[in-house]
Amino acid sequence: MKPVIFTDLDGTLLDDGYSFEAALPVIRRIKDESIPLVPVTSKTRAEVERVRELLGVGGPFITENGGGVFIPDGAFPFPVRGEDAGGMKLIRLGTSYEVLKSALAEIRKETGFRITGFADLTPEEITERTGLPLADAVLSKEREFDEPFFLESGSVEEVGLLAESVGLTLTRGKILHLTGDNDKGRAVETLKTLYRALYGKAIFIGLGDRGNDVPLLKNVDYPVLVRGEEGGYEPVEGVPKLIKADGAGPVGWAKAVTGILDTIKASGSYTC
Ligand SMILES: [Mg+2]
Repeated sequence: MKPVIFTDLDGTLLDDGYSFEAALPVIRRIKDESIPLVPVTSKTRAEVERVRELLGVGGPFITENGGGVFIPDGAFPFPVRGEDAGGMKLIRLGTSYEVLKSALAEIRKETGFRITGFADLTPEEITERTGLPLADAVLSKEREFDEPFFLESGSVEEVGLLAESVGLTLTRGKILHLTGDNDKGRAVETLKTLYRALYGKAIFIGLGDRGNDVPLLKNVDYPVLVRGEEGGYEPVEGVPKLIKADGAGPVGWAKAVTGILDTIKASGSYTC
């Protein structure tokens, strides 16, 4: 059996300063043991490609809260169905960005709430509001399946109900997001099928820090919640066998992954 790791990025593998340094020794181990490390994030393709480059990992990844599943050509030794997307196949699970932007504009008009989406902001303004480095803020605007937004006046619940009434979903990550009826869990399921076809049997590990990670955590064998940097864990319900990592962000990530890999290795159920 082969382990496969699905991980959220912001607040999980990346700390609040967007660094994964605390997890570096474990990332090295994962690479040495050829364990797939799959980012599952609300970030865009362009942002994830940059993080993958910094991490030095290849392979599939999931963008924009499960809107897009990207599979580099040759990642699996069998044909994968999907749209050609520059050296990769894209399995599109999300709703198009144009539809999301007009729905958000409609909600703003209907409620009179002050709502500001990433589409309304320059990269400099995104940096100011989120702390994202400017180069990443530029890449964060290349959106396909998810509109992050700030609700400056009005009720989150009301926005959520209006989104639902037109078949869309309001998701809470570090900030609010409007998406289609996709989530991280469905996207993870899509890749699990491919990894099972590749390895025969696989053990799935999943790590996250917030509500938008719950569908991911529900779809893995070892679900891990890392602590927030403020010191607490996000309240998470409905995830059996949830493991609370001993540490915030990448510190907790590294400890939990080491513990799980050691445990499954000791049980003799995997060879690298
Ligand atoms: Mg997160």
